[in-house]
Amino acid sequence: MKTWKCEVCGYIHNGDRAPDSCPACGADKDCFSPFEIITVDREPLTAGVWQCGVCNYLHRAAVPPSSCPVCSATASLFSPLHSPDAAYSGDNSISSIVVLGGGIAGLTAATEARRQSPHSAITLVSRERALPYYRLNLTRFLAGDITEDALQMQSQQWFEEQNIEFVSAEATSIDRELKLVHLRDGRRLGYDRLVLTNGAHPFIPPFPGATRNGVSVLRTIEDARSILQRLTPGIRIVCIGGGLLGLETAGALSRQGASVSVVEGFSSLLPRQLPPRAGAILQQRLETQGLQVLCGESVRELAGDESVQGVLLESGKLLPSDLVIVTAGVRPNSYLARQAGLTVHRGIIVDDRMVSSDPAILAAGDVTEHRGTLYGIWPAGYAQGMVAGCNAGGGKAEFTGLAPSTRIKVLDVDLFSCGQIHPEDASTTLHEHESDGVYRALFCRDGQLVGAVLYGDTKNAGFLKDIVESGRQISEFPGLAELFPQL
Ligand SMILES: Cc1cc2nc3c(=O)[nH]c(=O)nc-3n(C[C@H](O)[C@H](O)[C@H](O)COP(=O)(O)OP(=O)(O)OC[C@H]3O[C@@H](n4cnc5c(N)ncnc54)[C@H](O)[C@@H]3O)c2cc1C
Repeated sequence: MKTWKCEVCGYIHNGDRAPDSCPACGADKDCFSPFEIITVDREPLTAGVWQCGVCNYLHRAAVPPSSCPVCSATASLFSPLHSPDAAYSGDNSISSIVVLGGGIAGLTAATEARRQSPHSAITLVSRERALPYYRLNLTRFLAGDITEDALQMQSQQWFEEQNIEFVSAEATSIDRELKLVHLRDGRRLGYDRLVLTNGAHPFIPPFPGATRNGVSVLRTIEDARSILQRLTPGIRIVCIGGGLLGLETAGALSRQGASVSVVEGFSSLLPRQLPPRAGAILQQRLETQGLQVLCGESVRELAGDESVQGVLLESGKLLPSDLVIVTAGVRPNSYLARQAGLTVHRGIIVDDRMVSSDPAILAAGDVTEHRGTLYGIWPAGYAQGMVAGCNAGGGKAEFTGLAPSTRIKVLDVDLFSCGQIHPEDASTTLHEHESDGVYRALFCRDGQLVGAVLYGDTKNAGFLKDIVESGRQISEFPGLAELFPQL
């Protein structure tokens, strides 16, 4: 029996073969790679310790793992660690760890902290009532592809078995001097290490009319339930924002029988992930699925009375609508950190160990800014949560970055995008190729593959992602030239 990891959501599958599709996020078989379960213990490490050359993760076994569980680097990037005793110093002064935020970063941090620190008290605080769930699957839930039960990541029983206390409450402030988190219900939680994983919130641009009834966002399970309750046959919905979330939401609601339009300010779809040609191909495909897509349009006003009745565009077009969903990006929930005096720019500033400007406070996921990057994606929440949890529990791990990669769900479109799609300067070359409904683009700089897009056939996605993340020369991957002779 082998273990497989979904590269989209981190789901672990045990079996001789990868599953046909991921039961958690729906990604197809190609997104699975072999994975070795790591058991990290605190006994002195003697032999067979491997260190990931990308993120410094330590793996204790006779051979390195086929891919790093933290940053997905390939086995070849692991090297033997010669002075392992210093690696896991253990820290007996850590008896209490509070993780604030019950998303993927928080759950992963709590899980990893428990592995590092079997005896400390670990508390996971979330202001949502629900136990941690697959937020990235809310669009599949909206589409009716999965039930609400399938969203849950871990059960109450799992929390009990792990001896991690789940507290459903809102944190209102942090007292760094006394090392206390204050909760709205009056409780106070003491900590030796605090991990901030309180995520991000949807950004609603200040359009006139944005507070009318019928203007919604999609971030939580409550948002998804409330959108589903409003659905009636033929309901007219406008999604503002043609990014990943906007398109998946539009596709999901269209499948539920709504008449859906998408408004995107840029001249093509998924502007952060796709070159314009790929955005245009995607747009054509979505239009054949019945979506109305308007690119290069911006919103002047959300018109109506108490309730929204239409979206008025700067071009003068009016899109009649009974429900408007704003999918215009997210902003980190940095308020608590700012108020506590931590260094915050756009997100909480963290170093490679995911430590903030206060050595007792770490942070991970959408709330952070790491080396100037706000990732805002699931795999980064997972990887950063793992590193933050490991360090909070007394271990040593580093996160040095990820090549952002994207797969689209719900829309029945085979699309993969990874790495740098927008050239930083003129030294990046774009190799585009299109035939028989299959499109691919490779972005190269200084002899390296820095980004890739596949549409219509994504079976080489994992291979390309590994190359982009490795940062090695293209010439070291002879298989690449065979697959992509245009290089
Ligand atoms: C519908 C949808 C689809 C997505 N699809 C994809 C995808 O396909 N691929 C991808 O990579 N990414 C996707 N994303 C983005 C991805 O889900 C996020 O990057 C990820 O969930 C971030 O995880 P996080 O743990 O950092 O934050 P969050 O998931 O936002 O969790 C933060 C938690 O902190 C809690 N919290 C906040 N403030 C407080 C407080 N004061 N007190 C207590 N608790 C608090 C929140 O309630 C929440 O539980 C999607 C997002 C959405 C909404």
